[in-house]
Amino acid sequence: MRLVILGGPGAGKGTQAEKLCSNVSIPLLALGDILRAEIAGETDLGKFAVPYVEKGELVPDEILIKFIGRRLLLWDVFNGWVLEGYPRTAFQAEELDFLLNDLAQQLDWAIWLKVPIEVLLSRSIDRARSDDHPEILQRRLDLFHERTIPLLEYYEYRNKLLTVNGDQSPEQVQQELLKLIEAKG
Ligand code: AMP
Repeated sequence: MRLVILGGPGAGKGTQAEKLCSNVSIPLLALGDILRAEIAGETDLGKFAVPYVEKGELVPDEILIKFIGRRLLLWDVFNGWVLEGYPRTAFQAEELDFLLNDLAQQLDWAIWLKVPIEVLLSRSIDRARSDDHPEILQRRLDLFHERTIPLLEYYEYRNKLLTVNGDQSPEQVQQELLKLIEAKG
């Protein structure tokens, strides 16, 4: 199974992706976590990404597309994956489709964790992380609206979008998510 998880900052993407991966036994690729690890390890990608991640800006598409292109070739994700935090732009989504096409693979679903904006805001404020200062938070929300919301249309048009109510307890969200995936086969 190949899935991407979409949602705003504070939508619960990380939590749901982790639960899903352990429930269906497939590996998780969480872009934010990968980038933070690359930054901590001071790798080339990490050094490049620092100024973007620190300001809550998106790391440029070209770099991440190249990274994902190489990462999806590794054996551990040959039989499936959950991508969390990627794609975040229409360009990344298109490039992911091209890549999968080249690999003769297909995305099964894009899961949209739908959460009202005021809930996203209060959840994000509660979450203390260095990149969660108010102005950075606002920037991440703005970028989410500008860049990520259009992805919903991209996947909807391709009949790939599954919408889950993300404004429930994490357990309820996961149950709804699993039921939807099962019902869709
Ligand atoms: P996250 O933990 O998923 O919110 O990601 C933390 C930060 O990593 C974001 O604020 C961006 O700076 C960067 N990032 C993560 N995923 C992407 C992506 N798909 N495209 C561009 N930048 C990203």
